[in-house]
Amino acid sequence: MQKLEQLYEGKAKKVFQTDDPNLYIVDYKDDATAFNGLKKGTIVGKGVINNQMTNRFMAKLEKAGVPTHFVEELSQRETVVKKVSIVPLEVIIRNISAGSFAKRYGVEEGIVFDAPTIEFSYKNDDLGDPLLNAYHALALKLATPEEIETIKKYAFQVNDFLKDFWASCGVTLVDFKLEFGRLEDGTIVLADEISPDTCRLWDSKTHEKLDKDRFRRDLGGVEDAYAEVMRRMNEAL
Ligand code: ADP
Ligand code: UDP
Repeated sequence: MQKLEQLYEGKAKKVFQTDDPNLYIVDYKDDATAFNGLKKGTIVGKGVINNQMTNRFMAKLEKAGVPTHFVEELSQRETVVKKVSIVPLEVIIRNISAGSFAKRYGVEEGIVFDAPTIEFSYKNDDLGDPLLNAYHALALKLATPEEIETIKKYAFQVNDFLKDFWASCGVTLVDFKLEFGRLEDGTIVLADEISPDTCRLWDSKTHEKLDKDRFRRDLGGVEDAYAEVMRRMNEAL
C-alpha cells in the first residue's frame, strides 16, 4: 500500500490518497480543537490512542453486523480505510444529559434518559454544524429516507455495543458522535472515528470525565484521561 498525495487536512486527522482508488489512509494528529476551532491545543499521544481505539471498535462493530470503513491498521497513527463519500450529518446519540443538550434545554448534566436520543447536525463548519431534523436533512438532500433509516438503525446498534463495552470497563458512555459514508455502490458504512474526542466517557463510580471535555473545559489531566480509557480498553480485550 503506497501513501500518495494528501487530499485533506482536518482538525484531527489527515486523509491521503493511495495507489488503490478505493482506499484512503487516515493519519491521526495530536491536534485538539473545540468550539468549532476557536480553542486550539495539543493532546500529546492522542493520535495514537484515537487511531487504536477507533480501529478496535470498528473491527468489533463489523463483527456485530455494522459495516464500517475500516480495512487495516498500518502504524500507530495510520490506518487504511475504504474511501467513502461522507454523508454530511453528525449523528449524535445521548444516554445521559450533557454538553449542548444540557445547555439548549436548560437542564443539569447527568440526567439518565429512559431511552437513548438521536439527533443530527449539518456537518458544515461555516454554519457551525447547525442542529437539524430528518425532514430538514431530506429537504437539503443530504441523504435519502432509506439512508436516514439505515443510519438510525446502525447508530443505535453502535450505542448498544459501546454502552455495554464501556460498562464492562467501569466507564459510562454519556453521548457520542458518529459519521457515516457511502461506498461507490451506495452502501452506507460507519466512517470517521470513535474516540475520547467524539465520545463523553465518565468513570462509572466517581463520574470523573475521561474525554475531551477535560480539554474543552480546562480541567487538566487531559493526557492522563485518554491514557486511562485506553488502558481500561486494553484490559477488557
Ligand atoms: P474535520 O474535517 O471535522 O476537521 P478530521 O480532522 O477528523 O475532521 O478530518 C477527517 C475527515 O475525513 C473528516 O472530514 C471525515 O468526515 C473524513 N472521513 C472520515 N472517514 C473517511 C473515509 N472513509 N473516506 C473519506 N473521508 C473520510
Ligand atoms: N461531538 C463531536 N464533534 C462535534 C460535536 C460533538 O465529536 O463536532 C461529540 C461530543 O464529543 C459529544 C457528543 O458529540 O460526545 C455530543 O456533543 P454536544 O452536542 O453536547 O456538543 P459539545 O458540548 O461538544 O459542543
